[in-house]
Amino acid sequence: LSTWAAVPAGPPDPILGVTEAFKADKDPRKINLGVGAYRDENGKPYVLNSVKKAEQIIESSQPDKEYLPITGLAEFTKAAVKLAYGGESAPIAGNSVAVTQAISGTGALRIGGAFLGRFYPHTKTIYLPTPSWGNHTPIFRDSGLEVKQYRYFDKKTVGLDFAGLKDDLKSMPEKSIVLFHACAHNPTGVDPTPKQWKEISDLVKEKQLFPFFDMAYQGFASGDFTRDAFAVRHFVSEGHQVVLSQSFAKNMGLYGERVGAFSLITADPEEKARVESQLKIVVRPMYSNPPLHGARIAATILNKPELYQEWEGEVKHMANRIISMRDRLYDNLVAQGTPGEWGHIKSQIGMFSFTGLTQPQTKTLAEKAHIYLTADGRISMAGLNAHNIDYFSESVSKVVK
Ligand code: PMP
Repeated sequence: LSTWAAVPAGPPDPILGVTEAFKADKDPRKINLGVGAYRDENGKPYVLNSVKKAEQIIESSQPDKEYLPITGLAEFTKAAVKLAYGGESAPIAGNSVAVTQAISGTGALRIGGAFLGRFYPHTKTIYLPTPSWGNHTPIFRDSGLEVKQYRYFDKKTVGLDFAGLKDDLKSMPEKSIVLFHACAHNPTGVDPTPKQWKEISDLVKEKQLFPFFDMAYQGFASGDFTRDAFAVRHFVSEGHQVVLSQSFAKNMGLYGERVGAFSLITADPEEKARVESQLKIVVRPMYSNPPLHGARIAATILNKPELYQEWEGEVKHMANRIISMRDRLYDNLVAQGTPGEWGHIKSQIGMFSFTGLTQPQTKTLAEKAHIYLTADGRISMAGLNAHNIDYFSESVSKVVK
């Protein structure tokens, strides 16, 4: 008998499973709106020009392949936190941001979970919005935190359940950890307004909650890095000691290069040094030190003004293409007399839209129209383009009617 005879088969990943079904479909009209990766005007993966140029610069300098330090490439992590918090923010100016490079956003969340599990001095419960990115619960559960939920999305309005969110923050035990999506909430595409963020910050302060920001889409929501960092920067300016996970998968298109960072606001440089010494002790037994190439690419772009500028333009272009697809989808659905209210398609933000399509409708779309999306009705707007949007709109219209 095999040692592993009793290992049960696990369920397929709900998002990556969609891609498998898509790949198996031979129909030329097929569309994959499952996975959250940007696609260009022709539905193809997109390597940014700024990334290609950075790679040429790196290549021509003939760098070695030695190990990075445990907390990664300093030129990268320094620039990453500056991008998030802003060059003028007090903790950056005061050298009190502790940071480590991470294996993209997922790795940053995982290090954050592990660090809080080990050192957060109060109850180790983290509250996630309902719904949240599907990987959040397993990441924090595997980090040893208890995972609970707060209200976020209102199915009736297909918008933010702000009253429910506030009620839930008010009834959390003091000092609980709360996870916020910094911008472009996944999967709903629904973000609080700046005014609502201010109220949330006040409530967090009142209840002495501990804010954990997940920023996987800076620049992708509005096309503007500063605007997308509003929530994080507001919290910091209000004196919250935030922790932050950053990913460069989407905004630099570095998905498979796994470039991210995890940072914490500390009291002063001395405390920062202590915290970083413990981050090293968290990271070392997990993977020793992070990968080199992607961090070099990101560091080159972030630190060279002309490349940074080109990157900024490319991020704007990606964000704008997605926004134009939202407009066109909305116009099509309305023009085709599709029953229901579709304003949320335009008001939602970022890569995803929560369409309100039901599970049976998503199933019909896959079987009858070769259109693949997750069962919760989420679509990746980036999978739509001038060639497939009319077919997509007609198919949605048909399945709703
Ligand atoms: N957080 C959220 C909300 C996300 O949507 C994602 C990407 N799907 C991530 C974190 C992390 O992704 P990655 O590990 O590829 O950076």
